[in-house]
Amino acid sequence: MANMSLKKNPMPAQEPDVRNKNFNEVALGYTEEMALDEAARCLNCKNHPCVSGCPVQIHIPEFIAKVAAGEFEEAYQIISQTSSLPAVCGRVCPQENQCEKHCVRGIKGEAVGIGRLERFVADWHNEHVTTPPVKPASNGHKVAVVGSGPSGLTCAGDLAKKGYEVTVFEALHLAGGVLVYGIPEFRLPKAIVQKEVDNLKALGVTIATNVVVGRTISIDELMEEEGFEAVFIGSGAGLPMFMGIPGENYKGVYSANEFLTRINLMKAYRPDSDTPIQHPKKVAVVGGGNVAMDAARCSKRLGAEVYVVYRRGMEELPARREEVEHAEEEGVIFKTLNNPVEILADENDNVRAIRCIKMELGEPDASGRRRPVEVPGSEFELDVDCVIMSLGTSPNPLIKSTTKGLEINRKGGIVVNEDGLTSRANVYAGGDAVTGAATVILAMGAGKTAAKAIDEAFQNK
Ligand code: FAD
Ligand code: SF4
Ligand code: SF4
Repeated sequence: MANMSLKKNPMPAQEPDVRNKNFNEVALGYTEEMALDEAARCLNCKNHPCVSGCPVQIHIPEFIAKVAAGEFEEAYQIISQTSSLPAVCGRVCPQENQCEKHCVRGIKGEAVGIGRLERFVADWHNEHVTTPPVKPASNGHKVAVVGSGPSGLTCAGDLAKKGYEVTVFEALHLAGGVLVYGIPEFRLPKAIVQKEVDNLKALGVTIATNVVVGRTISIDELMEEEGFEAVFIGSGAGLPMFMGIPGENYKGVYSANEFLTRINLMKAYRPDSDTPIQHPKKVAVVGGGNVAMDAARCSKRLGAEVYVVYRRGMEELPARREEVEHAEEEGVIFKTLNNPVEILADENDNVRAIRCIKMELGEPDASGRRRPVEVPGSEFELDVDCVIMSLGTSPNPLIKSTTKGLEINRKGGIVVNEDGLTSRANVYAGGDAVTGAATVILAMGAGKTAAKAIDEAFQNK
């Protein structure tokens, strides 16, 4: 019998006043009883509209039916036909704009908790099935992957399963891309990402860390001297943008990427960490996207009073509603309709305040959102000792400047065809390096598409 409750089973979570002082995961996951109850809300619709909202087309009604029957491993096997990172996507996918947006149960109530069920199934599998994957026999072809984010890991995994000899070259000392250096531990525990990386190693993938492609070795050298027959570029979009206002060079001004890398990858919040990061008392995070919410919530956990400074209103915040609510519950203060004009410092060049001007919303601009307009004479100073700029990122130009014949678009993204093939023969690309900052599931989908195309190209040779 279907469960006709209009509400999703709520996700158990740490209390706001407890979690804003630790880096442990906020959402605790469904129990088996909750998963069974939630799965019973799915109507198993014949035309499954939810699937059209999933960028990798997970067979949603089928996996949920297995959950409802208590066949959790079978549910996992269905998900893994199309997704390589379900424990990750079940946690960080913007489900409300994807699969759940199309769920018919959402018409008169809340959508089925598809992401929560996906997370439950993946966690159940990780807890109960511990046999590592078996390395397939080699087909003798060597493929290089640049970058170990979700696009690179997915491409590497799909090719390794087909017997390719894959080496992933990663600039940082740990594999995982934004999954390890950007998204905080309290939203995505790093042990989950490490498990995916370990599985790839078991499949025979070599992970070469501390290799900056374009500096340590170029793509041309990989292909012409090291015997790699194809390359997938999944180098992401890690180059931060700044506002260009006076004072951005003072001590205590970070890009969100640098701040989050120090916290997440180098664990700067631990007393034994040797990463230098000041423990600020008052922080202004400039920007209103998901990355800004992560930076604000991390700062809160370091013990600071935290302001999010954003030039439009609460309604216009681009971050996921859930992230904004979590930040508010944890005590982050939103200073919307304010725009920074200058950062001020003391005599030692340490940040002491940020000068802002108040804004009001005017007519809609080209994006359809109401344009923020300055209120004359409304400047004021907000006392802070740290400013974190979270204004977006773009692809780093290093790969382009060191690779022959790679076409790049106006925004710095690598130009590819529908198979992920670049303007250079046998060089593919995908994820944020192509699209600019986007989502985990889109990056993963791009890695899959390229792996399929690389394999087909070898089959047809
Ligand atoms: P990345 O994950 O950026 O990985 C690229 C990798 O390539 C990095 O490890 C980098 O070090 C490496 N690299 C770069 N240049 C070189 C080089 N020259 N040589 C060798 N290695 C190189 N998406 C969601 O869906 N949900 C979320 O909740 C979410 N939260 C986010 C929070 C933050 C703080 C950030 C920054 C992003 C978030 N995103 C989220 C976006 C998502 O993480 C990205 O879209 C996704 O990780 C892109 O994957 P990718 O494989 O293209 O690149
Ligand atoms: Fe939904 Fe993302 Fe899972 Fe697809 S991968 S079903 S969009 S949560
Ligand atoms: Fe189930 Fe909703 Fe998909 Fe229908 S649309 S199959 S109710 S998840």
